[in-house]
Amino acid sequence: MATESESRKLLGRLRETLAEDTAGQARLDRITHLIASSMQTEVCSIYLFRDDETLELCATEGLNQDAVHQTRMRLGEGLVGRVARSGQVVNEADAPNAKGFRYMPETGEEVFPSFCGVPIRRVGEKLGVLVVQSKEARAFSEDEVYALEVVAMVLAEMTELGAFVGEGEALRALHTLPAMFRGSVGQEGVAEGHVWLHEPRVVVTNPIAEDPEVERERLNTAIDQLRVSVDDMLSRVGKDAADTDQREVLQAYQMLAGSRSWRRRMEEDISAGLSAEAAVEKEQSAARTRMSQVQDAYLRERLHDLDDLSNRLLRILTGQGGDTGAEMPDNPILVARNIGPAELLDYGRNKLKGIILEQGSVGSHAAIVARAWAIPLIIHAENIISEALNGDHVIIDGDQGIVHLRPDENVVSAVRDKIAMQAKAQERYADIRDKPAQTKSGEVISLHMNAGRLADLPSLESSGAEGVGLFRTELQFLVRSKVPKRGELAAIYSRVLDAAGGKRVAFRTLDIGSDKVLSYMKREDEPNPALGWRAIRVGLDKPGVMRMQLQALIRAANGRPLTVMFPFIAQFEEFKAARQHLLDEMEREDKLGHVLPEKLEIGAMLETPSLAFAPRQFFEMADFISIGGNDLKMFFFAADRENERVRRRYDTLNVSFLTFIERVAERCAESGTDVSFCGEDAGRPIEAMCFAAMGLRSLSMRPASIGPVKHLFRRINLAEAKDVIDQSRASGVQSVRGDVMDWLRTQPV
Ligand code: PEP
Ligand code: MG
Repeated sequence: MATESESRKLLGRLRETLAEDTAGQARLDRITHLIASSMQTEVCSIYLFRDDETLELCATEGLNQDAVHQTRMRLGEGLVGRVARSGQVVNEADAPNAKGFRYMPETGEEVFPSFCGVPIRRVGEKLGVLVVQSKEARAFSEDEVYALEVVAMVLAEMTELGAFVGEGEALRALHTLPAMFRGSVGQEGVAEGHVWLHEPRVVVTNPIAEDPEVERERLNTAIDQLRVSVDDMLSRVGKDAADTDQREVLQAYQMLAGSRSWRRRMEEDISAGLSAEAAVEKEQSAARTRMSQVQDAYLRERLHDLDDLSNRLLRILTGQGGDTGAEMPDNPILVARNIGPAELLDYGRNKLKGIILEQGSVGSHAAIVARAWAIPLIIHAENIISEALNGDHVIIDGDQGIVHLRPDENVVSAVRDKIAMQAKAQERYADIRDKPAQTKSGEVISLHMNAGRLADLPSLESSGAEGVGLFRTELQFLVRSKVPKRGELAAIYSRVLDAAGGKRVAFRTLDIGSDKVLSYMKREDEPNPALGWRAIRVGLDKPGVMRMQLQALIRAANGRPLTVMFPFIAQFEEFKAARQHLLDEMEREDKLGHVLPEKLEIGAMLETPSLAFAPRQFFEMADFISIGGNDLKMFFFAADRENERVRRRYDTLNVSFLTFIERVAERCAESGTDVSFCGEDAGRPIEAMCFAAMGLRSLSMRPASIGPVKHLFRRINLAEAKDVIDQSRASGVQSVRGDVMDWLRTQPV
């Protein structure tokens, strides 16, 4: 058998078999029989993965039947394991003498010297190996190998659909076994719920074509549609230098979408009997395998583009767009490759119970949103997308960085115990909610919360925060498709102040740029956006939006006290200019007859080391300073907050950083300027304690951290903690963490 029509005939018979009323094992047996007879080989065997590392012989024609479900091999073991690991065909005329051959007496295979194994895989996911063997010592022809690959593609689709799973049989459907994923902690906490895939999997239900002519037509129509959509995207990209990157990517897409060889390969697959979607998947699988093997970054990028294009093509062919109409399960836990803050906000607060990302980073604003929502976040959970199905039971252990997918009962009960224990701890924090964060040595630290949406305000009451130390106003800009109107903003800010019920709210003016990208704002092409045109730099250079926002704030206050702070101030002049804008707006609003705030506080965020060394007059002019530790730490250590590789390299309790914080506190004390710390580190009890020891008396954090931080403060002697830190600093260590932890262990905490 070698010709196209032969392979089509085989697929035709395969389709009939699949349509028959057999199921599970019987169906698999029929298929091996069918392939062996069509290929005129004595042996055909199907090996499927039992777990990530183990392959199992699941059906065979020609080998010893007793070996079925008995013979197993590890990934990489023997020729079958080699095919599975490499994702590549092994075609040997003299198998017993081939590298890696492993003799398995129970199968009786020694009488079949020639061996050809092809991977059964579905878009990069390894499912098993299809093998043919024959008595005659010969290598299989290219055409034969190709036919086997086509059959393997169909088997992959059928495996995915659970076509070989029979009731009570040894073979279990895919995506049914418990699986565990280890990632990094983006946000602590434990959550139990059901998988909700940000981008649902495309399901192909018809891998075998009835009429190749029709399939070719479908493929070509879909490719044409794809090309039109890429052209369309390209026409919407601007022409100037700022859009070069995006334009280049789309041009590469355009080239690939028009690639004759890509189209030809898929047409060949269709001629061999596959449906249009199965042909796309076959080429996509091959590209994925190559992607994992090529070293060259440029080539990998192009294969990546091809992968993305294939996905688009599949969605066109199957009509399965982003919205499949599936219903969100109860307690949804979002599973995504990556997600931006705006997309995340689209889901809305109190919807998601947790987030699991294959990529992502702890310092990103999506992570900050997750933290503000107090839901656990795991990042870098590799391969979870190919394993998880919508609705799967899933548990996140955000303390350990572990995801349990389809967990067994033991895991479920252990995690539920943990959730109960955490709830108990929360009760303990509730007891101290209305008590001050007063240390044993008498210092009182005021604890505030960070917020970004009106919906966050109820936490003010439940957490016992004294006020909102940081209100991130950009979230309202991120969730819209155009700049919000002044009236809209004024209404929101007014309701925030209403909800705060007289407690102080420090509104930070629009802080965009870096990873906070507004879709409707023209983006400048910057080599390093974190160090680029962002935050107050945008506000001062193009003051229209900032001034509108300041007017909205004044109107929202409507006579009540107003607190405004400007982000990312790097030098005195910037603060002076920003402050002047606010004073000008006050004057203007006054003239227009609006009621002015009864009290106005204007502060600066210290997020670059330079500001700590600003002239004394700056500290005198600022009503308060808020240390934005997330950005500050990034610039202090020159380590990108979003780059997992370097982010953790420098400890917050590093002697240099703590000494720097101490210096800022001293300068503020000299001028009598209030100072607080509002970066994420303020919400970590040990870090919070060290900042207080360095002289800070005000911290702002996510609401859920207030309890644990206060609990620690109420149990320690801050003067003693300061001594421990000083001794540690004097000893020449890099970070005081070890010494502080040793001391804490001796304390009644
Ligand atoms: C910071 O940088 O610490 C900060 C509070 O601002 P953001 O995280 O929003 O950049
Ligand atoms: Mg910042």
